[in-house]
Amino acid sequence: MSGTVRVVVVGGGYAGVMAANRLLAPRSGRVRVPAPVDVVLVDPAPRFTERIRLHEVAAGTRASAGRDWSDVLHPRVRRVAARAVRVDAGAGHVVLADGQDVPYDHLVLAVGSGARADALHSVTDQAAAERTRDALARLAPGEAVTVAGAGATGLEVACAVAVARPDLVVTVVDPGGAPAGEPAIARRLARLGVTVLAGTVDRGTGVVTGDDGRDRPAAPVTVWTVGLAVPTLAADSGLPVTADGRLLVDETLTVVGHDRVVGAGDAVAVAGPRGAHLRMSCAAALPLGARAADTVLARVAGVTPRPLDVGFAAVCLDLGAGHGHVRLVARDDARRPWSVSGRAAGWVKEGICRATVSWLAAEARTPGRYRGVAGPRPVAAA
Ligand SMILES: Cc1cc2nc3c(=O)[nH]c(=O)nc-3n(C[C@H](O)[C@H](O)[C@H](O)COP(=O)(O)OP(=O)(O)OC[C@H]3O[C@@H](n4cnc5c(N)ncnc54)[C@H](O)[C@@H]3O)c2cc1C
Repeated sequence: MSGTVRVVVVGGGYAGVMAANRLLAPRSGRVRVPAPVDVVLVDPAPRFTERIRLHEVAAGTRASAGRDWSDVLHPRVRRVAARAVRVDAGAGHVVLADGQDVPYDHLVLAVGSGARADALHSVTDQAAAERTRDALARLAPGEAVTVAGAGATGLEVACAVAVARPDLVVTVVDPGGAPAGEPAIARRLARLGVTVLAGTVDRGTGVVTGDDGRDRPAAPVTVWTVGLAVPTLAADSGLPVTADGRLLVDETLTVVGHDRVVGAGDAVAVAGPRGAHLRMSCAAALPLGARAADTVLARVAGVTPRPLDVGFAAVCLDLGAGHGHVRLVARDDARRPWSVSGRAAGWVKEGICRATVSWLAAEARTPGRYRGVAGPRPVAAA
């Protein structure tokens, strides 16, 4: 192969930045990449967002989850500050919102996930978290906040708000009630005065319907943390998507029928048993971004891309004011009977949050270096 290979990465979150840096690795496994790779990253955001810190922004305890792009990106990655609106996979170019075309030899799609358009308040990007923070700041003592969803993000939001504003009445609403089999989390919520209600929240109005069938009026602020939507870029481009709009990829992260297009992160669904356990998470986005780059480099080097082999190691929650909860899980994300809570777990969680940025920065310094938490079969935690 001769000439420069141009790879465009759309989306500069955990997956996209990891992929963009790694694409500058000199080797694909043992094979030298035979041509220079030119990497273009398309993302409209003015800064890289440490999304896993956004609950702190919403609670008002952190001003910003933004980082300068230069903190995490290799200097040879050229960033185009724009939104992609369509991919023409036949012609091999990405169309930007201003109508410009960006041609590619290979494309990595990593556009992440966000709040549904009809959701009330959310914490899915810096602007949304700031709107939530401002709405909470307007609440008077004793007013109510509903957090929809008792998943990891919902619990982190509820604890962060309860710590920052102990004068508010915080209720987490989830069809399953409190997280099953996690008494330490239940104790922490109780200590912070957070109530967990089994029920549902109406996304349009914020009205809460409890399992007892009784409706509760909408709280002045409802923070939506579940049922995230993915951008419509893949669907709008006629690429194969799942019913919820995620880009459908095979176990090498390649879009079926489009060898030059791969995907990574929250916005993709991996068809096949090696991807069935992958949930939307930073923990998965980092190794998926690395594997997307590996697949592209393998093709450039003329070798067969390896199928995915990504497993989880732990679920780590920030429960506010330095407290945390760490639950070990098997590679397939099944719960293991070991967890730790309290300040030690908070310390671990903070270490992992810092590590996510360190891994990106290390990959920018030495592309090809990232091995996950414990390579060579990467496991993920965040
Ligand atoms: C408050 C909060 C706490 C969380 N805590 C954890 C945690 O503890 N552990 C964990 O594993 N996960 C956690 N998550 C989930 C985690 O943040 C996401 O799963 C992760 O960010 C997904 O990474 P990604 O690279 O796929 O997408 P994102 O990080 O969402 O990045 C997507 C990027 O694509 C860009 N983009 C979107 N559309 C376009 C377009 N059309 N053109 C160009 N660019 C585009 C966006 O600007 C963005 O920069 C948390 C999420 C939240 C909101």
